[in-house]
Amino acid sequence: MTKVLYPGSFDPMTKGHMNIVEQASKLFDEVIIAVMHNPAKKNAFFSTEERIELIKELYKKANNIKVVAASGATVDVAILHDCQAIIRGLRSLTDFDYEVQMQQINKEISGGKVNTVCLFADKDYQFVSSSMVKEVFSLGKDISPYVDPIVQDRMVLKKRS
Ligand code: ADP
Repeated sequence: MTKVLYPGSFDPMTKGHMNIVEQASKLFDEVIIAVMHNPAKKNAFFSTEERIELIKELYKKANNIKVVAASGATVDVAILHDCQAIIRGLRSLTDFDYEVQMQQINKEISGGKVNTVCLFADKDYQFVSSSMVKEVFSLGKDISPYVDPIVQDRMVLKKRS
């Protein structure tokens, strides 16, 4: 059984992320989305718990997509969940440079057990990012092209509260 880990901040999950999850879920038997707790990231919109709840709602009908909370080294999280590979999405050369280094480190520290698989979002979602969504939302503009309606509704509710 092929099991992969898709780690990230997902604050919030965008259609770019969802496109990567969809591709990975067709390529592998199981995809585990790991919502990484990163206290260094300051401008969080949703708490880790809220992000997890939201992603669970998005994938409640999918039986090969799971969501977990995680912290620390991604490679340890992958090993903990018996994942053979880490999925990363590539948007730009900047992403590529970073991922080249990370995959090498992760392969080394896992003793060759954890590989990295990079995927590309379809063209409509290629440049969508969580930070862009938060920025457009804060300006009061329409974010429906970039996020699922469930995410959009939750953002509106959160802003009101
Ligand atoms: P991180 O803080 O680890 O970058 P993100 O939640 O921003 O977490 O992204 C998680 C992963 O999804 C990363 O590999 C990122 O490059 C990828 N990703 C995000 N948006 C897109 C997109 N529009 N197309 C392809 N990959 C994406």
